Amino acid sequence: MADFRVGDIAGRIADRIAKELVNNIPYVAMMMFGAAIFSVGFAGSKWGLILAVVYLAYGAAGAFWIMIFVCPYCRYWNSRLCPCGYGRIAARFRRKRSAERFDEKFKRHIPVIVPLWFVPILAGLPVIIRSFSWILLVLLVLFVLDAFVFLPLASIKHGCGKCPQKNLCPWMSLKDGSPRRLF
Ligand code: SF4
Repeated sequence: MADFRVGDIAGRIADRIAKELVNNIPYVAMMMFGAAIFSVGFAGSKWGLILAVVYLAYGAAGAFWIMIFVCPYCRYWNSRLCPCGYGRIAARFRRKRSAERFDEKFKRHIPVIVPLWFVPILAGLPVIIRSFSWILLVLLVLFVLDAFVFLPLASIKHGCGKCPQKNLCPWMSLKDGSPRRLF
């Protein structure tokens, strides 16, 4: 019986960690495609590698920014229900704050990471217009698909869709206050 319980608990923890890893794939993939755009687009110059590393560092810093400035106001702070695991990491840095201020904090801090979605495109497009490259084109298409289709779909369908504060969240709620539904 005790063995069954230990196995059961271990199985649930492994299942949760696997889900958190899967939910982080779209953001990590966006970082990888973005860094590859800089690396390939500026190949032959020292700037390719420098810009790729700066973009990756910005992506990592952006994730921590959200954990520090948004997650403490979320009802999933320090909870296993947080789909990507940020909420539990956030609890190591900051204590719980009022969930009533979640939408205010979300609106204030999300713009900090928004450039991550656009900078690789703005950097890659002029390069591909100047000197066409199939590799760069494929990377740009993959980046756009991941950043603007796959990532929002995964977020709304698997993460934010089950969030108890989705009606307060500017990302999930429509202008009339009703929740956004994709399907
Ligand atoms: S659901 Fe979002 S805001 Fe809430 S703790 Fe998780 S990552 Fe942070």
